[in-house]
Amino acid sequence: MADSSTCSSASSCDRESCEGCPGANGGQPQSMQEEMNAYSDIKHVIGDVSGKGGVGKSMVTASLANLLASKGYRVGIMDADITGPSIPRMYGLTGLAEASEEGILPRLTDNDVKVMSINLLLPNPEDPVIWRGPILAGLVKQFWHDVIWGELDYLLVDMPPGTGDVPLTVFQSLPVDGIFVVTSPQDLVKMIVKKAYKMAEEMHIPVLGLIENYSYLICPDCGKEIPVFGKSRIQEVADEMGILVAGKMPIDPKLTELSDAGEFAKAENPYLEAAYAALQILSVKD
Ligand code: ADP
Repeated sequence: MADSSTCSSASSCDRESCEGCPGANGGQPQSMQEEMNAYSDIKHVIGDVSGKGGVGKSMVTASLANLLASKGYRVGIMDADITGPSIPRMYGLTGLAEASEEGILPRLTDNDVKVMSINLLLPNPEDPVIWRGPILAGLVKQFWHDVIWGELDYLLVDMPPGTGDVPLTVFQSLPVDGIFVVTSPQDLVKMIVKKAYKMAEEMHIPVLGLIENYSYLICPDCGKEIPVFGKSRIQEVADEMGILVAGKMPIDPKLTELSDAGEFAKAENPYLEAAYAALQILSVKD
């Protein structure tokens, strides 16, 4: 029989149990958040989202991780882009993650960023992941409660593009403090930002800022900024929606080189200082 102490409709209810009933918990929605691993202590969870693949979301996530690590913060990257994982390759992490009775241990990059990715769990990282949405989403939950993250100031979650099962699961299951939306000048920026904004708003998660990648190219001869993909509209969209422009990253061949060589731990990125400042504000509130 329904429990009258927690149920708003117990008197008129003939259910055997409260499970799955919207009236349970005094009519309050039940939290769908997953429990963190007992050996983890994570202060802030930040998501990086994009409308489509290839806009440089992983590049932005890793750059932000490097920036935070260089300032002395303890940082982790959860590679939730399960069908297109690229974080381990960027940092030259090969082989499998170790596991113990307590959980799975993340791998450490040369600049002390902790990483967990499907590529560190599959014997052959070249095998395609062809699982359906619910299984992918379940894996993200495992990355949260089965991985021993230890003490982290920031866990950056590199999300798959779009608004599918995995981003939804991350928003529902993890205590996300905010997201950055990564776009490129070619994107239908306004539509993509609005979609991401609406999804985050429905989950009561703030959009911390917009980051434009491939904003321009610096001419190697004269140093002039060339807007290769046309005029940027990011500021316009940000102003209209009252969101911060948290960074404009140029096309920088050095970043690609380091990423392709698995040496991204050496990559410095001066273009994300505004994003860093937005994250520091979160820390001040601690
Ligand atoms: P996404 O995660 O959005 O799919 P990636 O971060 O994997 O995209 O970037 C796609 C490719 O573009 C990668 O090879 C990456 O090294 C390269 N890339 C991304 N951003 C830049 C940049 N600002 N300058 C140079 N190369 C970049």
